Amino acid sequence: MIYSGRVVTTTRLTRRQALISGACFCCVRASAQKRAEGTQAFATEEVAPGIYIRRGLDEDVTARNEDGIANIGFIVGRDAVAVMDPGGSLIDGQRLRAAIRQKTQLPIRYVVMSHVHPDHVFGAPAFQSDKPQFVGHARLPRALAMRADFYTKRLQDTLGKDRAGGIVAPTMLVQDHTEIDLGGRVLALTAHGLAHTDCDLSVLDRNTGTLLAADLLFVKRVPSLDGSLRGWLKELAALKAVTGRRAVPGHGPTGVDWPSGARDLERYLGTLLRETKEAIAKGMDLEAAVGSVAQSERSRWTLFDDYNGHNVTQAFKELEWEQ
Ligand SMILES: [Zn+2]
Repeated sequence: MIYSGRVVTTTRLTRRQALISGACFCCVRASAQKRAEGTQAFATEEVAPGIYIRRGLDEDVTARNEDGIANIGFIVGRDAVAVMDPGGSLIDGQRLRAAIRQKTQLPIRYVVMSHVHPDHVFGAPAFQSDKPQFVGHARLPRALAMRADFYTKRLQDTLGKDRAGGIVAPTMLVQDHTEIDLGGRVLALTAHGLAHTDCDLSVLDRNTGTLLAADLLFVKRVPSLDGSLRGWLKELAALKAVTGRRAVPGHGPTGVDWPSGARDLERYLGTLLRETKEAIAKGMDLEAAVGSVAQSERSRWTLFDDYNGHNVTQAFKELEWEQ
């Protein structure tokens, strides 16, 4: 296939790899020629005063995009900076750090790691010299430990060892709720129940009413289910009650109105739930369900064909025990 002007090969994961890979890493395309130097522009948008977000590409990881596929950014307070998330690779994290230094010389005191998926956290080593608190959900260390080897190998195979980055263990864990203060700017952190993954952390900037939802919110790019379908719908309903005016999705545009910006995700997850339950009730096997469930959503999302089958598989495994 031709991809961005170069011939690439597509590496399909084994079933086991696909199951443990999580959605943000499902279909890894490895370039025959590792990468072109310095191809990725890094630009941030100020979505609210002092909150800067880089829009991730609506692609799976490739050597060319250097795993710059998630929305990542930083929040500037009076005394300090917090990063949310550190990026998808070492090079992605380094570029984010350089963008921060273009805006401010304030210390980077916190690096929030929203969940286990590598497109959000493999840039963390770029911030180690700042000696920040690396903040994560209480279940993040376990999730990282289970997947570290697989994620690291995959990313190194795609980007090369010197650019891939890796795991940094969290130094500050969030059990339920906590707050961090950047000086005149308090961020409220919430550790969520099983949803997109088992370790989702969201951040609310009370000053501007901005919810940084990470992968609890997908907009336009098809969501990926790596936790619990029922759990995600529950957490999404709770998030809609948050008194934010806007939200920053983990994938898609850098900002949407809130809570109306959750509408498409809620419809997709609701369709996935309803039609998977119907498929199970009809005695359909998994393969047939994958071919039919949520097809009405196909034209509404980018990367639909890369992820919907995985989502149906996850939903099927979750819901078949309820019959
Ligand atoms: Zn994710």
